[in-house]
Order: sequence, then structure tokens, then C-alpha cells
Amino acid sequence: MSKEVILTGLRSNNELHLGNYLGAILPMVEMQKKHAGKYQLNMFIPDLHSFTTPIDHTKLYEQTLKNLKVFVAAGLDTQQPDTYIYRQSYISAHSELTWILDCFSYFGELSRMTEFKNKSSNSENVSVGLFNYPVLMASDILLYGAKWVPVGEDQRQHVEFTRDLGMRANNKFPGLFIVPENNAKQTEFAGRSEAVRIRSLRNPDKKMSKSVEDPTGTITLSDTPVDAAKKVMAATTDSLESINYDWEKQPGVTNLLQILALLSNKPQDEVNSQWQGKSSYNELKSAVADVVRDFLTDLQAKLAQVDSRALTEKLESDEVAMSKVASETLLRVQQAVGLRSAA
Ligand code: AMP
Repeated sequence: MSKEVILTGLRSNNELHLGNYLGAILPMVEMQKKHAGKYQLNMFIPDLHSFTTPIDHTKLYEQTLKNLKVFVAAGLDTQQPDTYIYRQSYISAHSELTWILDCFSYFGELSRMTEFKNKSSNSENVSVGLFNYPVLMASDILLYGAKWVPVGEDQRQHVEFTRDLGMRANNKFPGLFIVPENNAKQTEFAGRSEAVRIRSLRNPDKKMSKSVEDPTGTITLSDTPVDAAKKVMAATTDSLESINYDWEKQPGVTNLLQILALLSNKPQDEVNSQWQGKSSYNELKSAVADVVRDFLTDLQAKLAQVDSRALTEKLESDEVAMSKVASETLLRVQQAVGLRSAA
């Protein structure tokens, strides 16, 4: 019997930062290690999703390859036989299935998507792509019959939408799609009750991101280790003069404790009890600056060693293999809806 599919992706429109690394890349690498041999892992770059919001198109292509290298430097084993890496736009079935599924999706349900509402609220020219991307995401999942789709909180509604759409199609055309598991099971599968959320160093009420107003709050993976350490030393804390893990009252200090635990690979509780009640924020910042400096030095050395040619070869051969799988699903759908003669 074929293995159940885990599908996961990371957009490549931005240069990656520490939040992406700790919140998305590392969990993906850990997932590969945990499930080696038991599941098939589809790790794709959703490049078509990259411009649902405006981007610098001249950088997209290179950024995709650069980000893939970060995965390898972070420990992704590209030689593992059940791991497939591919770029979404290289497999045309994603776009083709999206059109068909568009015609089975309702305007009302897409209008209710929280991400769409959030991202469109302050924009004048809202693209149809932003409105429509949950359907493209449904195609990404349904083409490979992926049961497991580990996503952050913001994408959970879209996994539910994929299930609704898949089941709707199955009611009309029995057995057409394998639908992903529901969100409760997805959370259980991911084995994490709470997703990691790294905050901006300057404004710890906001998450670390490339779009926050103050770039000194974001550590990018291409920052020099020295510059990154300086950003940590300038992090916003508070005036309580007591170190406690408390997101409500001390988000800046708590964010530093979180980064310290994750980068030194220690349980959060252990790090908290080591620092609990101490008063020197400077000492805490120095400890975090040290681990950040070491982390970037190590990652950048590993990045320099990634074999680009081997990675591109793997990418291209996986794109051929996954095109075959996706085309088979697409053909079944085309036959079901009457675009191709029945099997
Ligand atoms: P984005 O570039 O915002 O689309 O994020 C890509 C991935 O990185 C998503 O899976 C996010 O959950 C993760 N991510 C982005 N920012 C953070 C952050 N500050 N802390 C933790 N994870 C993050």
C-alpha cells in the first residue's frame, strides 16, 4: 500500500528570518526525521502563491532556490527516498485543477476567509488571486491525496475549506478525492499544542516579520552574526527588572527566553527556571546574542557548503515524478467532469 502523504510548503517571496526558521523550517526538518520511512513527505515551494500580494518579481526565481538551500542547511535530508521537493509552478496540474475547483467553490465561502478579510482590508486594489488562493491551496493538497497538512493557525481555515470542497466534489463524483484530515487530527499529528511564534525584537506585541515597520526587530538569516547580536542587545524589554516567562506582562523578555530555549535546544521550562527572578536584562540579552551569533555562523557555513547542482538535480527529478502523480489525479477529475472520455 502506498504511504500516506504529508504536504507542506513555504512561500519564497521574502528573504527568510529567524521566525520563519524556528516556526516553519525547523519543524519541517524535525517532521522529516520523525516520520522517515513511514510517510511520504511532499515539501513544495508554492511559488504561484508568492504574488497574491505585491512582490519584487525580479527576485522571486532566485529566492526560491536560496530558500531551498536553507532547508538543506537546516538539516533536510534530500536523499531520503520518500521526500519530494518541487516548485508548484513547474507542475501545471496545480493551475488546471484550480480552474475546475473554482467552478465548485462558492463566492460566499471564499469571502468569509479570515486571511482574505485581513489582507484585503487596507488595500485598494485587492487581487482576485488573493481571493482565490484557498482554491489553489486545495488543488495543492487534493492533487496528491495528502491526508496530513501541518499549517500555522492562519491557514487552518483553508484546510477546512479544502475538506469541504473535496467532500462536495465526492458527493457529486463518488471517490474522486482523498480529503485531508480535520484540524483536530492535524494538531494531534503535528504533536504540538502551541505553534512557535517569534516576536519582533523591537515591538514584541507583533510577530517577527519582514513587513514590520522597524527592521531592527527582525533577524534575517543573511544578517552578519555581529549585526544580529547587536539587534538582540537593542531588544525592547520593560521596566519591571525581573525576568519571568509571561507573554502578557513581559512579552519582550519572554520572547528572548523563547529564542534562547529554541536555539540552545533546551526545554523551555529548564531555561525559564534558570533565569526566573533574575534582574539583569543585559545578562539575558548577552546570552541570547551569543546563541544567535553561533547559530548564524553555523548556518551560514553550512549554507556555503550546500551542493547547488545536486539540489537542482533532485528538484528537477522530483518535479518529473510529482507531475506524473498530479496528472493522474487531474485526468480522473477531467473524466469525472466530462472534459475527457470516461476511463
Ligand atoms: P510568511 O513568510 O509570513 O508567509 O511565513 C512563512 C512561514 O513562517 C509560516 O509557516 C509562518 O507560520 C512562519 N512564520 C512567519 N513568521 C513567524 C514568526 N514570527 N514566528 C514563527 N513562525 C513564523
